[in-house]
Amino acid sequence: DPLATLDVALSRCRRCPRLVAWREEVARTKRAAYANETYWGRPVPGFGPSDASLAIIGLAPAAHGGNRTGRMFTGDRSGDVLFQALYDVGLASQPTSTRIGDGLALYGTRITAPVHCAPPANKPTPAERDACRPWLARELDLLRPTLRAVVVLGAFGWQASLPVLGEIWPIPKPAPRFGHGTEVILGGLHLFGCYHVSQQNVFRSLLTPAMVREVLSRAKDAAGL
Ligand code: SF4
Repeated sequence: DPLATLDVALSRCRRCPRLVAWREEVARTKRAAYANETYWGRPVPGFGPSDASLAIIGLAPAAHGGNRTGRMFTGDRSGDVLFQALYDVGLASQPTSTRIGDGLALYGTRITAPVHCAPPANKPTPAERDACRPWLARELDLLRPTLRAVVVLGAFGWQASLPVLGEIWPIPKPAPRFGHGTEVILGGLHLFGCYHVSQQNVFRSLLTPAMVREVLSRAKDAAGL
């Protein structure tokens, strides 16, 4: 499976010195609640089947979420919102995602990110975003035969993903702007925008569970799932 091979190669990447230092420091120092756990502390690969027809693109792993568990959106509050919604619309086998080996399966859906290492304050630099771009490009290229829809969570992911998507599908000019619920058709691919499922957005009620379900449900239809 070429995607599994890509995931292994990705998990050894050390291209960004600041992010390598941060992900490893967080893994060493840990959060008190997880003091007994061994953190992953490496780049977090995409999660989901290699013949996915829907991709969900976030921002970057959370320091004590994906950087701890080794799986995208797993073990953090953003993931709680995302996986509940995926389960509600029939794209996940269970509403929670706690750790690798918890039995969670995604149906026709792959979750990934434009930056694969946890950044300080959840803010990658433009240089780090650009350094990580080839990984997303390879992943989307491998998914291309089956991919029909993409949901991008948040403006950072949107800005980072458009050039990568544009290498495969035609992007209109001027480039489509990010917005919650935005839908753009790029050749055979349906691209959707959704506010990021961050705790901050949910806490401020900028994003409700119903709003996430609504976008995911449209994307599921567009993907033929
Ligand atoms: Fe490598 Fe991407 Fe991590 Fe940078 S962010 S070290 S390019 S995996």
